Amino acid sequence: MARHIDPKCKLCRREGVKLYLKGLRCETAKCSITKRRGLPGGKLSRRGRKLSSYGIHFREKQKLKRFYGVFERQFRNYYHKAERKQGNTGENLLILLERRLDNALYHIGYGFSRSHARQVINHGHITVNGRKVDIASFLVKQGDVIRPVEKEDSINMIKANIDSNKDRTPPSWLALVDDELEGRVLQVPNRDEVSVNIQEQLVVELCSK
Ligand code: SF4
Repeated sequence: MARHIDPKCKLCRREGVKLYLKGLRCETAKCSITKRRGLPGGKLSRRGRKLSSYGIHFREKQKLKRFYGVFERQFRNYYHKAERKQGNTGENLLILLERRLDNALYHIGYGFSRSHARQVINHGHITVNGRKVDIASFLVKQGDVIRPVEKEDSINMIKANIDSNKDRTPPSWLALVDDELEGRVLQVPNRDEVSVNIQEQLVVELCSK
C-alpha cells in the first residue's frame, strides 16, 4: 500500500492547517502549526507567496486528500462516486470520505490518528457487525456496530487506545459505549458534521475539468 513518506508535520505546514496526522501530539503546544502559527516551513515562510487560481484549487484538494490519507487514484474514485450520487457533489465527496472505517475509528478513539487507525484495521483487529474487516476504506453506514475481534490482544490494545484518547469526543453521528468497547454508527454524517475545514466547491471545480 502506498503511503506518504514526507514528515507528517511538513504536510500540515504545507497546507497551513492542522491535519491531525500525529495523534496526541497534535493536541499539544508541541504541534508545529501551533508554534509557527500556520506558516509553512523554509525560507519563504514569512513572505506569503501568492497562489494562482489553479494553485488555490489544487491546495484545497491536497488538503482534503492528506487529511483523510488517500492518494490520487483513490480520491478520483471517490469523486466519481460522489458525482454519480444525487445532490451536491462536494458534500457527497466529503460524506464518503468521512464514512471511511479508519476515520470512524479515529473519531471513537480506537486509533491515535487516521493512519494509526488504518494500521489497526490492516492488522485484523476490527469487526463490523460481527464480521472481521481489514479494509480501511470500508464505508460505514447507519446501524453498524464496530468492535475489536474477540482476541485478548486486540481487546487490550483497543482498550488502551480508548483510554489514551478519552479526551476526544466523537461527532454526533458516532457513539462509543466505553465499557463494551463498542462503536456505533448512529446515522450517516451530514456536511455540518464533517470535521475538515475545506471549501469543497474548489475541489469539485478542479476535479470536474
Ligand atoms: Fe504535526 Fe499534528 Fe500539528 Fe500536523 S497537527 S503539524 S501532524 S503535530
